[in-house]
Amino acid sequence: MPIVGAWAHRDVRAAFSSCLLDDRLGVMAIHEILTYPDPALREVAQHVGDAQSEEVRQLVQDLADTMYNAPGVGLAAPQIGVFLRVAVTDTRWREEDGVRDLQVWINPEISRREGEVVFEEGCLSVPGIYEDIRRAAAITLSWSDLEGNRHEADFEGFQAVALQHEFDHLDGRLFIDLLPPIKQKLLKKRLQKKKRLSMKAD
Ligand SMILES: [Zn+2]
Repeated sequence: MPIVGAWAHRDVRAAFSSCLLDDRLGVMAIHEILTYPDPALREVAQHVGDAQSEEVRQLVQDLADTMYNAPGVGLAAPQIGVFLRVAVTDTRWREEDGVRDLQVWINPEISRREGEVVFEEGCLSVPGIYEDIRRAAAITLSWSDLEGNRHEADFEGFQAVALQHEFDHLDGRLFIDLLPPIKQKLLKKRLQKKKRLSMKAD
């Protein structure tokens, strides 16, 4: 039986505050989040060669600032137009008391997928759309941290779902691609029309 849950923070309004990973680095930058049907969201991101580089550290900072500002529970580099295999998540973030638990994923690789779970998902790149999506209930993941160390761990439930969602972005996949074909077609048509109208209004 799939477990049905809700995509957290969908209605959260962020009181923005900075989230510096390291006070020595300092430039906080909130980036524009690309939205469907921007073709950049379909690019496959490149493997990160040096996880310890200044470029990657700044990218992680930018992703964190942009994610918390949005607000969202996850953001992948391609969503801000950077085609590197880097994503951040915070599935435990509580705006009320400021508790944050930023997690950084560099060159993530899922080596095991097990079971099935259905969560209502949303995406900062597909604003206003929430749909039930079926994914693996448990995963085994390896990834690098900002020091370049490799880790491996198991994840399940909402966190496993959030990670699969974010890492799909690294391969140019969006959660709406996982909907049944007819539903997908209607939704994509609607989103394209919405984007055209908003571009006209600008
Ligand atoms: Zn997304």
